[in-house]
Amino acid sequence: MSLITVGTMAFDAIETPFAKTERIVGGSATYVAYAAINFVKPVQQISIVGYDFPKEEMEELKSRGVELDGVEIVPDKKSFFWSGRYHTDMNTRDTLVTDLNVLADFNPVVPDSYQGAEFLMLGNLMPKLQLSVINQLKVRPRLIVMDTMNFWMDVALEDLKEVLKKVDVLLINDGEARQLSGEFSLVKASHKILEMGPKFLIIKKGEHGALLFHENHVFFAPALPLEDVFDPTGAGDTFAGGFIGHLAKTKDISFENMKTAIIVGSAMASFCVEKLGPEKLKEITKADIDERLAEFVQLVNFDIDLV
Ligand code: AMP
Repeated sequence: MSLITVGTMAFDAIETPFAKTERIVGGSATYVAYAAINFVKPVQQISIVGYDFPKEEMEELKSRGVELDGVEIVPDKKSFFWSGRYHTDMNTRDTLVTDLNVLADFNPVVPDSYQGAEFLMLGNLMPKLQLSVINQLKVRPRLIVMDTMNFWMDVALEDLKEVLKKVDVLLINDGEARQLSGEFSLVKASHKILEMGPKFLIIKKGEHGALLFHENHVFFAPALPLEDVFDPTGAGDTFAGGFIGHLAKTKDISFENMKTAIIVGSAMASFCVEKLGPEKLKEITKADIDERLAEFVQLVNFDIDLV
């Protein structure tokens, strides 16, 4: 069972009320890979980096079972760079800089060895490139999950709508759902977005959990209340990696199993925010993940007598 992931591999500069760094490894595909590899092997990565991306990071990913045949290395250009500053609530942030660098001329090529993958995670990336990857696959994967962000809604909305027609699950945050649909109510927003193509919609609400919409069903998963949130960067991508990783592992793409997958995604995201960048994701073991999943069960488990 293999999973293709597409997205950025980047350097980030991050400022939160509790931490600041001028340069740390990040990128949507990096976080997705570090999360998903706990559940499915191989993870087949498609991305692009410049001469400056650390070889040690590539080796670290490879050693965990992430295949990098689809990661292009451009010898004379810099890696994608993103910089963001979080507000005091840590749920919202401003993008300060988005330097496309190598991304500006990226034409992803799906290696032959990746053909036949049953799961495809389209991490946050130019919609045109997400579409190009879908179109290169000779057999449509069983499940295509797409992540995106307000940046692409601002600069490439029409392309984004084309990709939406071809995916099964869309993952966005509440602000992005409102922007995409033009609706304030998330329920109304979900109806409009589900008409654009995806059969399932996940709306992430940061520390307030996530909602899964499908036809007339809705499911809610909380985020784990954490004592310390250090850096929320990558939490969305990590959530996505845990979500699709669980589905790929269990080979079950039903709505019922997606409920479990959302809890798995939330558990992985709860690790991500505890340290800067993807650091925490590199430290955790299967036992840590199981323990955290048990905390989720405890968090939402209650008996009630109907009155
Ligand atoms: P998240 O916090 O889950 O939204 O993801 C943050 C990661 O996304 C950072 O590591 C950035 O490098 C990456 N990122 C930021 N902006 C973009 C963009 N426009 N396209 C693709 N990746 C991005």
